[in-house]
Amino acid sequence: MVILITFLLFASLASAAPASRDRVTSAPAVVSSEQVHDWLHLWQKRLHLEDWKVEVKIVRIWDLEQGTLGHIDWSVPHKTAVIKVLNPADYELPKDRVPADMELSIVHELVHLHLSALPLNKSSRNAEEQVVTMIANALVDLERHDQPLPNSLP
Ligand SMILES: [Zn+2]
Repeated sequence: MVILITFLLFASLASAAPASRDRVTSAPAVVSSEQVHDWLHLWQKRLHLEDWKVEVKIVRIWDLEQGTLGHIDWSVPHKTAVIKVLNPADYELPKDRVPADMELSIVHELVHLHLSALPLNKSSRNAEEQVVTMIANALVDLERHDQPLPNSLP
């Protein structure tokens, strides 16, 4: 039996209000799918998740749960996962901040994979989400130590 577990990456209130669902945009992509795959491979290696077969898809806002920027489904027995990240066309952030946010989404969803062995427990889900958010932010912040995230200490 394949067990699919789903986690959602909720938009940070400060940084990215979700775009309205009925807006139709066709703005040119500011992030290529090659870039997204490069981030996936880089962070999969850094996080020692090479034994997972992970796919990443850039999806439109209507393919994600409302108010989310990313999503991951995985199968522990098969060691496979599919990450969805929001299409730059549907972001409400300034264009120059979109790539960094998409990379953070990928890191965030990959950190969830490390916790995939834990039993699914509704009561700990919020705590898990907070832990994943903090670890992913810290990792990305370390990489860009010249650009502290909004919640970092000065
Ligand atoms: Zn999450």
